[in-house]
Amino acid sequence: MFLNSKFSYSKSNKSYSDLLLELDSGNILSIYFYPRRREIDVIYKDGRKEKIPILYNDQLIIEKSSENNVDLTINNSRKDSSIANSTATFFLLLIFIFGFALILKSTSKIASKAFGFGKSKAKFFTIEDVNTRFDDVAGVPEAAEELKEMINFLKNPKRLNDLGAKIPKGVLLIGPPGTGKTLLAKAIAGESGVPFLSISASEFVELFVGVGASRVRDLFEKAKENSPCIIFIDEIDSIGRQRGSGIGGGNDEREQTLNQLLTQLDGFSENSGIIVLAATNRPDILDSALLRPGRFDRKIEVLLPDLKGRNKILSVHSLSKPLSDDVDLNFWASRTAGFSGADLENLMNESAIHCARNFSEKISNENIENALEKITLGLRSSNVVSNKIKKIRAYNEVGRAIVSAINNGIDSIDKITILPRSGFIGGYTKIAPDDDVISSGLISKKLLLSKIEIALAGRAAEIVVFGINEITQYAADNINYSTAIAKEMVTKYGFSIIGPVCLDQNNDEIFLGNSLLKNKSLIADKTSTIIDNQIIKISKEALANAVLKIKNNRSMLERIVEVLIDEETIDGNRFKELLSNLVKV
Ligand code: ADP
Repeated sequence: MFLNSKFSYSKSNKSYSDLLLELDSGNILSIYFYPRRREIDVIYKDGRKEKIPILYNDQLIIEKSSENNVDLTINNSRKDSSIANSTATFFLLLIFIFGFALILKSTSKIASKAFGFGKSKAKFFTIEDVNTRFDDVAGVPEAAEELKEMINFLKNPKRLNDLGAKIPKGVLLIGPPGTGKTLLAKAIAGESGVPFLSISASEFVELFVGVGASRVRDLFEKAKENSPCIIFIDEIDSIGRQRGSGIGGGNDEREQTLNQLLTQLDGFSENSGIIVLAATNRPDILDSALLRPGRFDRKIEVLLPDLKGRNKILSVHSLSKPLSDDVDLNFWASRTAGFSGADLENLMNESAIHCARNFSEKISNENIENALEKITLGLRSSNVVSNKIKKIRAYNEVGRAIVSAINNGIDSIDKITILPRSGFIGGYTKIAPDDDVISSGLISKKLLLSKIEIALAGRAAEIVVFGINEITQYAADNINYSTAIAKEMVTKYGFSIIGPVCLDQNNDEIFLGNSLLKNKSLIADKTSTIIDNQIIKISKEALANAVLKIKNNRSMLERIVEVLIDEETIDGNRFKELLSNLVKV
């Protein structure tokens, strides 16, 4: 038998009948036959090799070969192809398995991601991380004092346990943004040397239902592993709002998360070494279940700092900053009424930036002044304006300043400027807010009426100087502001002839769902008209009063306007110098 592949055959031009003759004549030594091909390989006795065409599956050649004793080799092409087939199948299978494994891998990744959603993103501070101390939190002595007892417990839980004392599980820190709630929570962890787990409540809630709840579980599990420790949940109102208030019923993701939080708060026993601190500036919208004893049963108010507090906070944030000798932080504290701790930190930071920009070595009063202007008014705009517009600005601003000086005293004016700031059409008169009001939150009817008068004094000055037909829309923002106050006086505080009735439609209605579902009765048409009339009356009377005050001080108005147009900005002290013989009627 031949190994056919070892030979090379030339194409023959012999015909089929020639082949038959050659076979009969005994010239052929052997034939290589492929059942599926239409040619055969022929080896002659003289050594020639040729390929000769035949019929498909030609039986005659086979018969003739056997008749003439020609060696006939049949190529088992099936076997070949089956080997080829099986190899191909094998490779196909391999590719298939490989592809399948790839798909499996990527889907398992997606699946693990999906299931991993539940893992809480809580930022974990180890003991070394928390280097905040109570000394870093200035100006909130009451809150700090209340929280200090927690430290004793976290440091020495056994002593309180032995005395049978129960430490609150949850403490709610209530106050405006930037007043130092997070800082206080960190200070407790730092002072007692326990781990601090912090998460913003909004991070709990994802698109997928159930994720928030599993994150809450995960957070508490972490806390149990690290007990004693502090959990800090910032902006708890984003999940802790009253349940059943949405249009979509009571089963949405946020509510499930809140339910889980309540369960977890109940789940760990008293004195387990975990204290949950939560911060919010909207305690009024929290679910009552969250506030009941055993959960967030202690509430600590963190208010905006008063004068002394602002002074202390400014000192804390100036510690690492070189200040000029003439910088008096008490003066700057008096100029920053209404600022939160975060605002004050920002003020000192902006001052340092301004100082660096001027290549000075120490932060000067000028740097702080510049930073204060930037924070309260925005950036200066370099628009060049005509004298007429400067005049309109000046009359408006000085008019307001004079009425403020009459109503609130000459110290109430911090600064008057006709330089526009980005976002404002005109100048600005900075009137210092009343510290008493800031710290107590109490506003009298007289104070509100005075605010409306001051707001409308710019328009009053225009009426007095230019006449009623020449007034501009410069005072539009102030009119908006005064109308809002007048509306609150009538509908919320009972400061009008309507009497002590709450007619505020939006009162506590933070959820659209509630008002839709409850079908709350609306205010009667007649009452609405009375409300509108009262708002108009208050505003008109305030404007008339302001007009009178401006008329009585007309010459002083003209004098100060002239100086303001010339100097563009005058501060409180310069204003005091210019003010003489103020007529207070
Ligand atoms: P909140 O949590 O109340 O929104 P933060 O505690 O996050 O406010 O305060 C933000 C930043 O403002 C703090 O990192 C801190 O630098 C500064 N700050 C706020 N309040 C005070 C304060 N009472 N004393 C010192 N710094 C404060």
